[in-house]
Amino acid sequence: MISVWLFMGPPGSGKGTQAKRLKELGGFEHLSTGDVLRDEIQTQSELGITIKSIVDRGELVPDGIMIDLIQKYLSNYPKEGTRILLDGFPRTLSQGRALLERASQGLFKIEGVIWFQVSEQVLIKRAANRRICQRCAAIYNLESKPPRTEGICDLCGGILIQRGDDNPAVVAKRIGTYNSQTAPLLSFLRSYVRVLEVNGEQSEEMIFAALLKALKNE
Ligand SMILES: [Zn+2]
Repeated sequence: MISVWLFMGPPGSGKGTQAKRLKELGGFEHLSTGDVLRDEIQTQSELGITIKSIVDRGELVPDGIMIDLIQKYLSNYPKEGTRILLDGFPRTLSQGRALLERASQGLFKIEGVIWFQVSEQVLIKRAANRRICQRCAAIYNLESKPPRTEGICDLCGGILIQRGDDNPAVVAKRIGTYNSQTAPLLSFLRSYVRVLEVNGEQSEEMIFAALLKALKNE
């Protein structure tokens, strides 16, 4: 059976970066909701066209569509021995319920939650320091991962910019949404699966080491 770890934590907690690193290391697949949506839109399937029109209107993709999509993408992996890091889903209580219900049908098993804990202050500070390459989308942090030359991408020489959604007001709003929707989800999940907490305020290397240790015995 496919086993699934839920990577949960506030936006900007670094869970996507860590999931990518674990995939590169081998032994894990990384399934992110963002990638799934982009992928489905690109196939120009009927569903992809529906999703594009929803996203273009700036609306959220309904839970029913999301859970069907996640299940579809999960079922594309080999059934035996695949370990998936699911990143960006579930985000709400109803998504969490739907996911557990699908898991009970036997296609996949939810192993547990890896919970990235990062305080609001740190998230806001990280966003303020984040710069992204206009050309190749590489991500920098002025404090913890500065470019070698100020304002210039190490990898491609492109110009580094600050994304509009990294400004403090937008970040605070995102965190607010997250807190109101995800706190109840987490207490719900706790009664069904293990929740392993990871201190997401550590350096990228230390978080990676902690994750390896936590997942090694699983
Ligand atoms: Zn670049």
